[in-house]
Amino acid sequence: MGAHSRKCDWCGCGTPIVRDLQPVNTDYQYWCVECARALIIKGDPIEVYRELEGEPIYGRLLDEHCALKRFYSFASA
Ligand SMILES: [Zn+2]
Repeated sequence: MGAHSRKCDWCGCGTPIVRDLQPVNTDYQYWCVECARALIIKGDPIEVYRELEGEPIYGRLLDEHCALKRFYSFASA
């Protein structure tokens, strides 16, 4: 299974756009945009992550909810 066939670990159908590099539960490392947004809204954003699409999709989600952003330090790697 290569990266191209990888699905969101949470919903099992979305295309992952971000990977959690320090997952609390290793079963959930890859997140699609909808599930990643849900995490942010829930107040439990991914703290150390890697963008998978070569553009800051998750970063933009965080900006949309920037009130949360200052509480965390993010890796940009
Ligand atoms: Zn998903």
